[in-house]
Amino acid sequence: MSHKAPRKGRPGATAHAPRKRFGQNFLTDQGVITAIARAISPSRDDNLVEIGPGQGALTDALFDSGCAINAIEIDRDLQSQLRVMFFNRDLTLHNADALKFDFSQLSQSANDLRVVGNLPYNISTPLIFKLLDNLELIKDMHFMLQKEVVDRLAATPGTKAWGRVSVMTQIDCDVESLFEVPPEAFFPRPKVQSAIVRITPKVQRHRPDCSRVCLSKLVQLAFAQRRKTLRNNLKGIIDEATIEALDIDPACRAETLTLDQLIDLSLQLDAAA
Ligand code: SAM
Repeated sequence: MSHKAPRKGRPGATAHAPRKRFGQNFLTDQGVITAIARAISPSRDDNLVEIGPGQGALTDALFDSGCAINAIEIDRDLQSQLRVMFFNRDLTLHNADALKFDFSQLSQSANDLRVVGNLPYNISTPLIFKLLDNLELIKDMHFMLQKEVVDRLAATPGTKAWGRVSVMTQIDCDVESLFEVPPEAFFPRPKVQSAIVRITPKVQRHRPDCSRVCLSKLVQLAFAQRRKTLRNNLKGIIDEATIEALDIDPACRAETLTLDQLIDLSLQLDAAA
């Protein structure tokens, strides 16, 4: 994959060699950019936060709604380009690492942040986990991710993709896989297929009786070795009789369990703690 050729043709764009270490695969397909902006459908009063604006491809399309945008970009070299490009728009640029950023400073009321981004693949899962820890700030999230990660986020029980990421997201959020994006839509082209996901915090918590900390611990144990039975993965933690009392077969694999069954098991950990 060449990282040498500069992007051409965008107003305000100067030559910038995409940086691999920042996961810079810039969107170039106008049809895809328009489709993402349409899926987000921002309105004037939205509190939009874009992670990794890059050379402003998506930012530009989002500004068509007349909204204000807070953008968090780690690459200092892209700052001046973005400032020139959006000099007459309501853009607040934060030169920061999104993984370390305090999102509460952008929120003006409960659940008001609309977080969007074509995320660098190397930070996508830790960033989503960070945002899941701050759901009280968030109205919704729209991300471009590796398709494989979107499949895991939106997975259903009984499938190979169902695991820690699906469970820890779906306990508090609705997840929709919206559409796929091919490598040709980017410069430079990534090696993998991408997809757009919408993650919306549930208005009411699905199971207020369950703590995220306990569920996370249970899921890590239950899925530790996917090919092993639940009985084996939970050995010494939750006994077989307790699993059976929940109407769960100890000989099953964790990937066959529903969200509620995993939550029921996690409550046993909570009780034992
Ligand atoms: N939004 C642009 C687009 O769609 O063309 C760029 C997307 S590119 C895949 C990812 C962007 O995130 C790059 O601009 C990169 O510099 C930025 N980035 C990478 N790591 C970051 C981090 N930890 N915090 C904030 N931005 C980051």
